[in-house]
Amino acid sequence: MKIKLLLLPALIALLMGCGNDDKEISSPTTPPVNPPVEPPVNPPVKPPVTEGNGDLLSPGATGKLSALGGATRLKAERTEALKASLSNRQVKNIILFIGDGTSESEISIARNYAEGASGYLKGLDVFPFTGAYSTYSLMQNSEEINYVPDSAATATAWATGVKTYNGALGIDTFGKAHDSILKMAKKAGFATGNVTTTELQDATPAALVSSVSGRKCYGPSATSKSCPSNALENSGQGSITEQLLMTRADVTLGGGSATFDEKALAGAYKGKTLWEQAQALKYQMPNDLASLKAIKVADQNQPVLGLFARGNLPVSLIGPSSVLDGNKKPATTCADNPLRLDSIPTLPDMTAKAIDLLKVNKKGFFLQVESGSIDKQNHSANACGQIGETIALDQAIQVALEFAKTNPDTLIIVTGDHAHTSQIISNTASSPGKSVSLFTKDNTKMSINYATAKGSQGHTGAQVRTAAYGPHAANISGLLDQTDLFFIMRNAMGIK
Ligand SMILES: [Zn+2]
Repeated sequence: MKIKLLLLPALIALLMGCGNDDKEISSPTTPPVNPPVEPPVNPPVKPPVTEGNGDLLSPGATGKLSALGGATRLKAERTEALKASLSNRQVKNIILFIGDGTSESEISIARNYAEGASGYLKGLDVFPFTGAYSTYSLMQNSEEINYVPDSAATATAWATGVKTYNGALGIDTFGKAHDSILKMAKKAGFATGNVTTTELQDATPAALVSSVSGRKCYGPSATSKSCPSNALENSGQGSITEQLLMTRADVTLGGGSATFDEKALAGAYKGKTLWEQAQALKYQMPNDLASLKAIKVADQNQPVLGLFARGNLPVSLIGPSSVLDGNKKPATTCADNPLRLDSIPTLPDMTAKAIDLLKVNKKGFFLQVESGSIDKQNHSANACGQIGETIALDQAIQVALEFAKTNPDTLIIVTGDHAHTSQIISNTASSPGKSVSLFTKDNTKMSINYATAKGSQGHTGAQVRTAAYGPHAANISGLLDQTDLFFIMRNAMGIK
């Protein structure tokens, strides 16, 4: 007892010492009792507060990077803040962001380029709860694992809760169709939206509205040839585009208008183009930013189908091609893409409009927003293209976070569908792949390497970051599988 009393003052002193240091510096060696912390160059910015859901983070380092603790991102002890933000009340709205082919590597590259090594992305990096999920797919008609999935299998996983084979949409590995979270939300009375920068028939948006055996079955002709069991003339549900029209989300925005030139081969609209079918089904069809802005209402009487490109929407940034030993060349910067005209809505534009149109529904809404060309530019080893689309994703997330500030019953989830090729490598590495050097915001050379294939680059099998904000956000923490996302969203909305 006497020994304990003697130890008490020392214990109090130690605790007080710890309490004074809010930086939680982790070091492999024992830190000194009072580490000489240099004052930050700029005072820490107070993080934005959202009533009911706790604080968003502002994880930028504000100190001198070479100083002890100067590069730390943690502003304060977070235990109480996280406790206060925990809630499992039923959500009214879910906004799900998917960065296609976007894992930690793509986020790091975009952050370094746009914000510098110690900066942070104001959308992607502010989430209080983060985790990771596995993304593997299965082989067709089999339990066999495929460690490198495609966007069709991964979209089916998060949209329907079931693993499937690469190329399959909305069906399990044995061909059985499963309802998507969008279809279930719609049935339960939620308004629904589906937004992308790629063709609307591309895997991510398509998995929410269709069940087909092959992801390339965009229109009636491809479906007849490659997915015959899905074709209308064989009593199937039709092509991806025909199923998109019949699913009838309240708001659908993206590219892929070319397929609408095709004619239906069977059914009530046989011989008519898919344009004519959409008109007959009372869709409002804006085709540029001005006509999108002019839309006032989107509901089941007059849903919105915005088509802003024949294929994918043009990317935001362009830059030098990756080449062998490109990392050893002088660094450069990205440029705006002249093909990205002001008349074409950006991902933040489409996100803002979709939220605006969907939020009037009393029951709430489910909205999926994809930045789809992060993946496509990764395939092309185009670092600037990839960075621009990651920044567009970040900007779209900021739009949703603004909405959540005044609508705390909103769950925002941000994730990717699978990992991809791009890696930050040494500026002096002798890589067998293609690389390019860019100046980051720190005016520092950063080399990005693409080396998963000799030609078009391939997906990779690493786990992908999950992040969330709002009620039920804590479920996104730790290690999950992609299929967990479907159940997390379904439970959050109270859908049986
Ligand atoms: Zn891909």
